[in-house]
Amino acid sequence: MALPQRQTDIGPPKYDQFLPPIIKKNYGKWKYHEVLTPGTMVHVAESGDKLYTVRVGSPRLLSTETIREICDLAEKYCDGYLRFTTRNNVEFLVSDKSKMDPLLAELKVKKYSVGGIGPRVSNVIHTQGWVHCHSACTDASGLVKAMMDELYDYFTTKELPNKVRLAVACCVNMCGAVHCSDIAIVAVHRKVPTINDEMVTKTCEIPTTIASCPTSAIRPNPAKKSVTINEEKCMYCGNCFTVCPPIDIHNPEEDGVAIVVGGKIGSLRTDPKFSKLAIPFFYNEPPRWPKVVAAIKNILETYAKHAKKHERVGEWIERIGWERFFKLTGIPFTFQHIDDFTFARDTFRTSAAFKY
Ligand code: SF4
Ligand code: SF4
Repeated sequence: MALPQRQTDIGPPKYDQFLPPIIKKNYGKWKYHEVLTPGTMVHVAESGDKLYTVRVGSPRLLSTETIREICDLAEKYCDGYLRFTTRNNVEFLVSDKSKMDPLLAELKVKKYSVGGIGPRVSNVIHTQGWVHCHSACTDASGLVKAMMDELYDYFTTKELPNKVRLAVACCVNMCGAVHCSDIAIVAVHRKVPTINDEMVTKTCEIPTTIASCPTSAIRPNPAKKSVTINEEKCMYCGNCFTVCPPIDIHNPEEDGVAIVVGGKIGSLRTDPKFSKLAIPFFYNEPPRWPKVVAAIKNILETYAKHAKKHERVGEWIERIGWERFFKLTGIPFTFQHIDDFTFARDTFRTSAAFKY
């Protein structure tokens, strides 16, 4: 006899409890989908059923008031069904076509941005930033706002050769999808952490602190009942700081961001790809980060000008070669582009040869 399902906080509930009835009915039997406008599309089932999607951007960190408003809209036009995509676009799932225009009209009145579907930029996935996370080396929300103010037309109307996924992560833990995005910003610490020996003795477990370091840079310091860091081996990842906060990695003067390009998740045409370094460093310049925003726009528009239709950013770079990518974008090739870090065991490429 099947046991009744118990409510726990372990793992998410089974997804199919939340599927709209039209999706349940046609599960696995969808024929095709079509982009209708930059912010709407339709999925057509073998049965002839149609499900319309309206996509709007979200700032990702949402107030409860905004979430309530979004839910009210879903109740009114979509029988309560909506979803958040992995990049935090909000998608209203409309099964009654006659409700599309009233929904779009109300979204316009309420100043939501409709767009992000098809060959353009979608919502920017990002992480917590200074507002919320202890490891942050930049302000993800502020950076995304500054960036999207500049790229807004690429969300609502303008077309690109293919979709372009943008991401921001506020440290190399990369809670945002920086490693698999077309153009992404990753914030970086650049200095070896400082150690407050007295507080380490009082608050940290030495074995777990040592074990937290991926490059084995941390050793015990028995004289001080603390630890020491081999500076040459440290890659400024901040793992030790998370386990033992008196090993402080923050440095407001030296923290900043790097830009990586060419990642993707999809396996259409070519295999999924990891992003690679394009620009090693910019200092944080809140509130508008003008140099970072200009650099992102330059990469996006160079790609728009030179890529073939349907080519993702990484596919375009692989076709023309990295040397030409640096030439076309005007980005200088620097010593930081050469991967010669030798302390990460077999997990990373360790050759000093940069392959164009
Ligand atoms: Fe925190 Fe780093 Fe994740 Fe940002 S990317 S939320 S700083 S762990
Ligand atoms: Fe090790 Fe990272 Fe801490 Fe450096 S910052 S000591 S690499 S855990």
